[in-house]
Amino acid sequence: MSPPHKFFVAGEQIVADKVTLAGSDVSHIRTVLRLKAGDSIQVISDSDKRLTVRLVEVKTKEIRGEVIASETVNVESPLAVHLGQALIMGSKFDAILRKSVELGARSVTPLMTERCVTKTHQRAAERKIERWNKIALESCKQCGRTQIPKVADGGVATLETFCRDNDRQDLKFVFWELEEKRTLKDIAPNTQPRSVALLIGPEGGFSQAEIASAREYNFQTVSLGPRILRVETAAVVALSQLQSLWGDL
Ligand code: SAM
Repeated sequence: MSPPHKFFVAGEQIVADKVTLAGSDVSHIRTVLRLKAGDSIQVISDSDKRLTVRLVEVKTKEIRGEVIASETVNVESPLAVHLGQALIMGSKFDAILRKSVELGARSVTPLMTERCVTKTHQRAAERKIERWNKIALESCKQCGRTQIPKVADGGVATLETFCRDNDRQDLKFVFWELEEKRTLKDIAPNTQPRSVALLIGPEGGFSQAEIASAREYNFQTVSLGPRILRVETAAVVALSQLQSLWGDL
């Protein structure tokens, strides 16, 4: 059985079969988990490998271990999904982030759009970026992913920036409750898409100008059916449907 405690480390912390842990991982291992030399942990380093590492030396500033087993895992979707999610009230963005990680999103970008509820959101959101990245890391540990999605990599973005940055994705969608015809089931790409960018709006939805702007960047408007879904429902349904059509659900 694999050891239950998972740690993500940077590639340079693994040299041959030696692993060095530093920073907050040390206090977590020593003080919270009270692990000692001889105990094992699981180490992941942004690859498809999951390592079982036996602790060799547990010091106050650094922990050293050795790799005793390596297993190749295939938990990352072949479809790289990039979600542009408008900022929303309270802790709902956090919830969407957790579910997006579980549903295999490769990146999540918070967006400031016209109808985001308050304009003070931008500064508050910047302060939240560190916390969002911790949420993504914890969700990865929980669901067993080996690659931590990028969250707010370039900070809080505008819709235009997101569209421009995702210009090269194979498929590009803006989910819009006023789209009456096209659903994802109507999309028939010639080849298996490997990447997709999607936009989900805030509580008040996207403005007509934003839809026009996304269309200029060749984002297609798509419907999630005849009912208006709450933002958090829309994100989960869209991601599930995308993974089901072209990913690994
Ligand atoms: N303000 C809108 C209204 O009341 O008519 C609803 C916006 S909805 C709560 C928030 C976001 O979820 C939308 O911007 C859209 O991205 C997505 N969404 C919700 N229901 C949808 C649907 N039926 N089709 C496509 N997108 C939907």
